[in-house]
Amino acid sequence: MITISRLYYTQPLLRELHTDIVAQRQEGDKSIVVLAETIFYPTGGGQPHDLGTINGIPLLDVYEAEGTIYHVLPEPVVGPRVTAVLDWERRLDHMQQHSGQHLLSAIFQDEFAYTTESFHLGADYCSIDITAPFLSREEERQVEQRANELILQDLPVLTYTLYPEEFKDVPLRKIPDREGPLRIVEIHGFDYSPCSGTHVQKTGQIGLVKILKSEKYKGMTRVYFLCGARALADYRHKHGLCTNLVSLLSVPEGELEARVQSELERRRELEKQLEELQGEMIRFRAAEIVRAGEGPYYLELPAADIQQAQQLARAILNLTQTAVVITLGGRVVLAHNLPQGPALGQLVKEQAQPLGGRGGGSATAAQVFFSDPANLQRFLELLRREIWVKAEDK
Ligand SMILES: [Zn+2]
Repeated sequence: MITISRLYYTQPLLRELHTDIVAQRQEGDKSIVVLAETIFYPTGGGQPHDLGTINGIPLLDVYEAEGTIYHVLPEPVVGPRVTAVLDWERRLDHMQQHSGQHLLSAIFQDEFAYTTESFHLGADYCSIDITAPFLSREEERQVEQRANELILQDLPVLTYTLYPEEFKDVPLRKIPDREGPLRIVEIHGFDYSPCSGTHVQKTGQIGLVKILKSEKYKGMTRVYFLCGARALADYRHKHGLCTNLVSLLSVPEGELEARVQSELERRRELEKQLEELQGEMIRFRAAEIVRAGEGPYYLELPAADIQQAQQLARAILNLTQTAVVITLGGRVVLAHNLPQGPALGQLVKEQAQPLGGRGGGSATAAQVFFSDPANLQRFLELLRREIWVKAEDK
């Protein structure tokens, strides 16, 4: 183990560092570097690692193992003296999300006695899982309001080490199982949490906390939130959406929701009308088919869907006692209302399935699909020659 100083704790605002390489080794195509001191936070405590460069070479990963911090690079670094530069935007983002999480967890515990069981900080989203069976919109709003009040108060965020004999003197949020001293992050006078992550120095630097939604998760409630620059980016995005909708629908923002609702209602009405018209058209077509000649009717409707074919078959059977066979692509729809007609479901099973047809149905309506057009033709011939003729003879 090589003990190195963690400047991300002692000087969290330090973005550039001149230091020495104390060890370097090759692992596959990666170079693993240990520095005498570092500004790069390694993955841990729910917080992702920092990024940046060492001598201009971009960091791929930073991790800690047995007290040593390892910097992973795509190529070896020429040392021993190096310049490390921190990706400050990423660090600040992590500090804002992580500090905002402390605020939310503390408020949920203080106001509702819900404890935080886990925390996710990713590029995709931030969330905490709290021991709540359910969270109402009003509770979300209340917690969000309180968090933003604490941001406005610009409370100092302090970090210090606490030894076991001192634990009783501080209202700790929770005491971890592991032994020894704890690193405490205190939101001045309000929250005392053991934590190894990086945080802002005053709550004002969190900027803004926005709770996005909550959902049930493994008997708990998962609360999704955004802080700082992420919340601003989200506001920009949503304001952009809103502005575009206002322009698309030509209504003031205040009337947007009502307009969308009325448009949806109008669409439902139009769909209903269309359905009625289609039904009428099918009945009209059925009447024409029946007028044009006697059944059984063999129809080809390559452009129709199954539902339309079934509707047409029913419409024809409503007009006369007959049988209908409609082919659409590889699919065949069968129906009849003949008192002595064949049981169609059984017919499909016995005659179509041996030809590779897949389907089934009731005694008077069935459908079957053939992937091989030749087999479909064989099945149709079979229907014409034997089965349907027999049915008519009866
Ligand atoms: Zn923390």
